[in-house]
Amino acid sequence: MMKFIRTHLVWKVFLSYVLVVLVGAMILITAASLSVPAAFERHMDSMNAIMTNASATGNNQQMQSELFSQYTTAVYEAVTYAALAALIAAILASFFISRQVVTPMLRMMSLSHRIAQGEYEERLSLPDGQPADQIDELGQLALSFNQMADKLEKTETMRRQLIGDVTHELRTPLTAVKGYLEGLMDGVLPGDPETYQQIHSEIDRLQRLVNDLQELSRVEAGAIQLQLAPVSPASLIERIQSTLGRQFEDKNIQFQTDLEKNLPDILVDKDRIIQVLTNLAGNALQYTPSGGKVSMQVRREKSEILFSVKDTGIGISAEQLPFIFNRFYRTDKSRNRASGGSGIGLTIAKALVQAHHGKIWAASDGEGKGSTFSFLIPLPK
Ligand code: ADP
Repeated sequence: MMKFIRTHLVWKVFLSYVLVVLVGAMILITAASLSVPAAFERHMDSMNAIMTNASATGNNQQMQSELFSQYTTAVYEAVTYAALAALIAAILASFFISRQVVTPMLRMMSLSHRIAQGEYEERLSLPDGQPADQIDELGQLALSFNQMADKLEKTETMRRQLIGDVTHELRTPLTAVKGYLEGLMDGVLPGDPETYQQIHSEIDRLQRLVNDLQELSRVEAGAIQLQLAPVSPASLIERIQSTLGRQFEDKNIQFQTDLEKNLPDILVDKDRIIQVLTNLAGNALQYTPSGGKVSMQVRREKSEILFSVKDTGIGISAEQLPFIFNRFYRTDKSRNRASGGSGIGLTIAKALVQAHHGKIWAASDGEGKGSTFSFLIPLPK
């Protein structure tokens, strides 16, 4: 019962009002019991005088009306004092109770103003050590408020980091293009096809980066509209084979597929899942040296379909594995930047899999020992 009251603001406020009324009533009764005899005493003399006067004149009616008037004056006086005392007590009690409700709100208000001005550090203090289910709605509101502040602070940090990352990513190809052009203008570099080809490839990289960024901002904002339709896992693998098979051959990498029989259809946006698979297979192609092997496996795991891409490539160290899906993360920055990777592909893949309510992860036994990227897509219920 106490817990119920403690956790429900409505009951707290209701009981507070009942308490105010009770305090008022008690003060009224106490004050009346004190003031009535005193008032009566004070008017006793005049009453006595009226009665003596009445017995002398024999005018009973006049005595009664005079006595009544004295009596009502005494009662009014007593009730007025008692009511005043009760009123003051009720006002004081209401004031303290209102303050209890309003103070945290005022703090929330001033904190929200500060957050609006970009100061994210401060948090509201919560009832000490009380579990979340033991605090009332105001406490819950403070809790949500703090969570909101956490989220805003994180978003702000991410925004700053993103701007920093993007600036850094753009600066490199821009500096290179500027360098080539200055070389051409000064006559240090020859105006031959090779130089123009290098400029072209830098600009190409810039363009890819901008496209990736646009896609990233779309997926991170959760603004991707999935066109869900039943798709057979085999058709997805076939598509990858037809688009990338040639490149695996050219690099002399063995490309294998291993598909469990009678797999049910999955309800997905086909193009988006192909995008994920292309990214994983493309990475496997890029990070596996000639003579290596890449295999793509699809099988059923209870109520999900597991896709995995396994390669015998350069592998990923245990320290780097947790960061592999972070945007702009590359295990070997200079090498991969030169090879054209922006470090955004896996971030997009993760967002796309999560948009399908799936899960994606990477595993590797370490550098030089190959990697396996896997993701799960839940089967339609
Ligand atoms: P990128 O465009 O640089 O390939 P990704 O987000 O696709 O960006 O990958 C991020 C980083 O993860 C890569 O730069 C690379 O260091 C590492 N990586 C991804 N796939 C593999 C793989 N199959 N083997 C080894 N490292 C990989």
